Amino acid sequence: MVIMTQWVYGFGGGSADGDASMKNLLGGKGANLAEMSSLGLPVPPGFTITTEACVHYYAQGETYPADLAEQVAAGLQKVEGITGKRFGDPANPLLVSVRSGARASMPGMMDTVLNLGLNDQTVEGLAALSGDRRFAFDSYRRFITMYSNVVLGLGHDLFEEVLDDHKDRLGVTVDTDLSAGDWEKVVGDYKAVVERELGEGFPQDPNDQLWGAVGAVFASWMNDRAKFYRRMHDIPESWGTAVNVQSMVFGNMGQTSATGVAFTRNPSTGEARLYGEFLINAQGEDVVAGIRTPQSLTRAGREEMGETAPSMEEAMPEVFGQFVEVVGRLESHYRDMQDIEFTVEQGRLWMLQTRNGKRTAKSALKIAVDLAAEGVISQEEAVSRVEPAALDQLLHPTLDPKAPRNVVTTGLPASPGAATGKIVFDADEAERMSQLGDAVILVRTETSPEDIHGMHAARGIVTARGGMTSHAAVVARGMGRPCVSGAGDIQIDDKARTFTVKGRTFKAGDIITIDGSKGEVIDGAVPMIEPELTGDFQTLMGWADGIRRLKVRANAETPTDAKTARGFGAEGVGLCRTEHMFFDDTRIAAVREMILADDEAGRRAALAKIAPFQKADFVELFQIMAGLPVTIRLLDPPLHEFIPHTEAEMDALAASQGLDAAKLKRRAADLHETNPMLGHRGCRLGVAYPEIYEMQVRAIIEAALEVKAKSGQAPIPEIMHPLVALGGEMNFLRALTDRTAQAVFADTGDQVDYMVGTMIELPRAALRAADLAQSAEFFSFGTNDLTQTTFGISRDDSGRFLQAYLDKGIFETDPFVRLDRDGVGDLIRIAAERGRAARPGIKLGICGEHGGDPSSIAFCESVGLDYVSCSPYRVPIARLAAAQAALAARTGKEREKDR
Ligand code: ADP
Ligand code: MG
Ligand code: MG
Repeated sequence: MVIMTQWVYGFGGGSADGDASMKNLLGGKGANLAEMSSLGLPVPPGFTITTEACVHYYAQGETYPADLAEQVAAGLQKVEGITGKRFGDPANPLLVSVRSGARASMPGMMDTVLNLGLNDQTVEGLAALSGDRRFAFDSYRRFITMYSNVVLGLGHDLFEEVLDDHKDRLGVTVDTDLSAGDWEKVVGDYKAVVERELGEGFPQDPNDQLWGAVGAVFASWMNDRAKFYRRMHDIPESWGTAVNVQSMVFGNMGQTSATGVAFTRNPSTGEARLYGEFLINAQGEDVVAGIRTPQSLTRAGREEMGETAPSMEEAMPEVFGQFVEVVGRLESHYRDMQDIEFTVEQGRLWMLQTRNGKRTAKSALKIAVDLAAEGVISQEEAVSRVEPAALDQLLHPTLDPKAPRNVVTTGLPASPGAATGKIVFDADEAERMSQLGDAVILVRTETSPEDIHGMHAARGIVTARGGMTSHAAVVARGMGRPCVSGAGDIQIDDKARTFTVKGRTFKAGDIITIDGSKGEVIDGAVPMIEPELTGDFQTLMGWADGIRRLKVRANAETPTDAKTARGFGAEGVGLCRTEHMFFDDTRIAAVREMILADDEAGRRAALAKIAPFQKADFVELFQIMAGLPVTIRLLDPPLHEFIPHTEAEMDALAASQGLDAAKLKRRAADLHETNPMLGHRGCRLGVAYPEIYEMQVRAIIEAALEVKAKSGQAPIPEIMHPLVALGGEMNFLRALTDRTAQAVFADTGDQVDYMVGTMIELPRAALRAADLAQSAEFFSFGTNDLTQTTFGISRDDSGRFLQAYLDKGIFETDPFVRLDRDGVGDLIRIAAERGRAARPGIKLGICGEHGGDPSSIAFCESVGLDYVSCSPYRVPIARLAAAQAALAARTGKEREKDR
């Protein structure tokens, strides 16, 4: 028996082959079109070519599956059956859209072709059937432009020039002023452009058109902006895209027709009110492209925006009523905020797309908390719905409301948040400047998917045109960039690289500030204040804390960082790097004296000067972290990091400190290492110069005793030895630590509990964890170094070749950002197992950069670590990610990344 693969899934006419659960196969758009059809909603019939067909296409040297053509023909026939029209029939033509749709939504990354099936004959049929010749030729010229651009690769500008010439000739400014005859002439000229550019005419056979468009959708999966978007959102190339072929409905059939987009709740604030925009007598892309400024859907929305043009609620009350009912059903059905596209064709409503809407972090929190309060979802579901990384948007400073603002103009509050930066007018420039460390604000008339890398690089975005659902607004919200759109007073001169607003001119490089929550563009910089984390944030974090098993600590050594971390809910310090304390101006002199000392006695004398400072640092840290564990790592970097590198600097230092310059240079030469990363550092310092570690241990224990005596609450110091590889090292360091602590106890007549442990940052340490666990009471995985030493790649130098590895798909992600579960992860798993076998209950944590990465946190949960530790600003992200990891572990499912 031959098993046939089903490549084509139909939908429409009240039923469908697929459903919403089949996103992987049908893509998000196709799966939801199928679901809406089955729900009995008015969906123009069509069919979906599966993502598997796309995967096949790329696996087989860009060829289609053998039986695809046959299945597409059958799919088309069904659509013809439902609509009563025929594809290519001059008397009664079926027209279709060809739309891409991957598993995860990739707004505008791949292009759509509308009105496909039109040619010189069928356009006449459409004119006759609709009784509207102007409409028919308007549709035809749109089709030629889109098809030529998306499929034939001709620039939009070629067609815009022609249209502008016609408008000049006719003395009109807006498209709607062109008559049927005018459009007919435009169409003639468009076809001439294609003929001139390509040496052959615009394809007239609808079947050729269809396959051209299908091929273009598959090809668009590999275009640069799709690749960039995938990289930014971690979408694997292997997923492929589906193709949706859907019968056309027309929003451009006069004053009773319209097209629009809606969100069932406000995507910026989360407010539970229908929200959206529409345009009368327009087709698809017009709303999002920012070509005409759209009108509000609701009367309340219109009044809020101070618009005069009627809302949909007012202009077409009947169909609006039906629409409200449909979107209400969709939200209850999907149990989440929906982002919806629709068209009204001569008073009749058609649904073209629904998906879980992209939203800001603020909105995500509010919607999740509200839906749980409404009883639509559980608290667990609410917790799993907020993307941890998105919280970052809320954790950064906002504009000080009390500070004066010189507002130069106001546009739409398209994406909340504030940003200050230098003005740039071009996406490439934005990328270039931000790579050089400049904060930039991208200012454009409007944005298109070609600008996506520049929007990503910019701190904020301003557009002169476009509404709340324009490309700029949608993409900025998805990226968490503040955005002011439709700031119509701004006149941009791209050539001069300036913009003018109310008589003032701003140049590229001038500093502006934008407030995306208010839609303000402000001259100069404005002071910022720390965010307040209350309300929905606190509620959801409370639920998350009730769910998670992993503890969350922070990497912190300064009092400021430690306070921030506690404010964000850190449950201790997972990594306090003591060398940062050595660099402080007040002690670096003593540190250098120690390095220059000729013998142990000289070193001890210098260390005695550092000791009081160290102790004071720890006292402060213990007080801030009262009652919580604090892991302190003893001195880690090679000593030459503390002395100057150039001769001139050494001379200057010697002169200012009264040191012997020749001796300083000699010592620097002695300390020089060919490969410092693998050199005299970590516990190798403690083994060679035990007096350094003894001083540090003494300072820690004395500080703990002092805090205990003062506050009655003893801190829990965890003394951590870095870069251990051998059981022998650990035994030596353990003995040193205990001996020193006992001496302090004897001196003071008091005691505190403390722990001694090690970082695991060398493969040998992981493999021989059982040896280390003889003396170590805890392990903390130092995954920055462990990744370096496992791969043999230096993090500081990997930038030179990492991109090539990412581009070639050898690395899916940067292993310094997302833990390499296979290699580094294996070492962690082995170390955890062997460590636990040797010392049951051994405490395990992670303190590398990965401790704040949600995917790496999920891994830590799966290995059963006790805690993760990350930078203070990532603590809330880690708390939420840890809760999601716990939920995933409970249900046995990885969290659904693509919501
Ligand atoms: P995107 O993913 O960029 O939103 P879409 O395929 O959804 O691309 O479509 C682009 C525009 O064309 C949208 O406004 C959509 O509603 C509209 N559109 C798509 N298919 C049809 C159709 N069959 N009839 C009318 N409008 C359509
Ligand atoms: Mg769409
Ligand atoms: Mg290290």
